[in-house]
Amino acid sequence: MYTPDQLFRMADETRDEGIALLADLIRFETVNTGVMPTGDELPLCRYVQARLAAEGIEAQVFCSAENRGNLIARLPGSLGAPRLLYMGHTDVVPVENEREWRYPPFSGAVAEGRIWGRGAADMKDMVAAELMALILLRRAGCALKGDLIVIAGADEETGGAYGFGWLAAHAPETLRADYAINESGGGPIPAPGGGLAYTIQTGEKGRLELHITLQGQASHAASPWLGDNVAFKLGEVLRRLQNWQPELDVSHEFFEHLANLLGRSEPITPQNVDAVADALGSVSRHLGSGLRGMSRMTLVPTIFAAGVKSNSVPASCRLVCDVRTLPQQDEAYVRRQVEQVLVGIEGAAYELTWTAISNASPYDTELTAAIRRATAAAAGRGDLRWLPSLTTGFTDSRLVRPLGATVYGFSPGHPDADLAHPAGVHGANESSETASLLFRTKLLIALALDLLGG
Ligand SMILES: [Zn+2]
Repeated sequence: MYTPDQLFRMADETRDEGIALLADLIRFETVNTGVMPTGDELPLCRYVQARLAAEGIEAQVFCSAENRGNLIARLPGSLGAPRLLYMGHTDVVPVENEREWRYPPFSGAVAEGRIWGRGAADMKDMVAAELMALILLRRAGCALKGDLIVIAGADEETGGAYGFGWLAAHAPETLRADYAINESGGGPIPAPGGGLAYTIQTGEKGRLELHITLQGQASHAASPWLGDNVAFKLGEVLRRLQNWQPELDVSHEFFEHLANLLGRSEPITPQNVDAVADALGSVSRHLGSGLRGMSRMTLVPTIFAAGVKSNSVPASCRLVCDVRTLPQQDEAYVRRQVEQVLVGIEGAAYELTWTAISNASPYDTELTAAIRRATAAAAGRGDLRWLPSLTTGFTDSRLVRPLGATVYGFSPGHPDADLAHPAGVHGANESSETASLLFRTKLLIALALDLLGG
């Protein structure tokens, strides 16, 4: 059996191969606009399938629609269990303005210690690390007890109906695992008491859309008193939304772990959570913002439309809000909040449409312990600290958790990663550090050896 150190040396020696693989993945323009036909992940899947075949690794490609491929690669274990799944998605969001990019967005340029391009950080970098881990374990001839599986799915950026959602509906056995690792989570963030803290994303907030319609009365704009102008109702609703005070809730275990990390004698409470968020925000903007997101529901107006003609008093208006819920906040809770906002507004009605239900895996599992050991080994440091966290967004993890796996979002950066450097996720100049690619490759190797080693 190989030791992690021997495999880490192999990873060091094949560093450029990993970088070239990521650059190759970026050059496939797997842009997902959300409107079919789109994504075009199949050519990338075929390319990876051939690469893996050359290593003697079997990979299947499941097509959910024409040109929408989902790749499933496996190193079979001698006993078949436990199963460890490395998740990823290969689709990327569109490039808005190519002229804002320092390097062409589908070039996979390597410069300044980084790899540049759409998908470089979300999340072809993680996919490349997962594939390199698989390839190196295979090359070393490591005998594993359980299966190590890599799934590179399509369509995450539009909700996964052609990706993990399709697999969950049509081939759920492919997603059955004991442990799974996906995007989100990670870090590192400088721990206020010294050392570095990594977050393990154990859960995701729920997401829904609130569609409000407001009804007034049309009239000629020259005699507005004959109508009931819906613009003023909209103004009132927007004012109430601006003043809406969400209930503050620090029951997520993150807050207790954070209080320990900070060495506080006082717990974090609903009364002091915003002050703590402000104080931490000056150390890490990401962490400060995360504290706010994990302690409340958000209810944010995003789209509104009214009026058909400049000389007509508008009679109806549509207002859409983005809503993000904490795990314990169910539909009845959301309805109570909305009804409070709309109370007394005549002609107001609303509907709720869920996009994602809040979901979570427990913290402090065997997987948590293995992640800690593997990260310490890959980083070569013993001073790492840990926090369970809840992401404000949602990922494919929500489609795998219900099938029984403990799923954590954990795509950590190198301990010395430049935290101030913008990753450009969903924006211009997306990039990731080459050092983090190598670090993740090592970490994923160590984790597989830890959980599946003979
Ligand atoms: Zn992503």
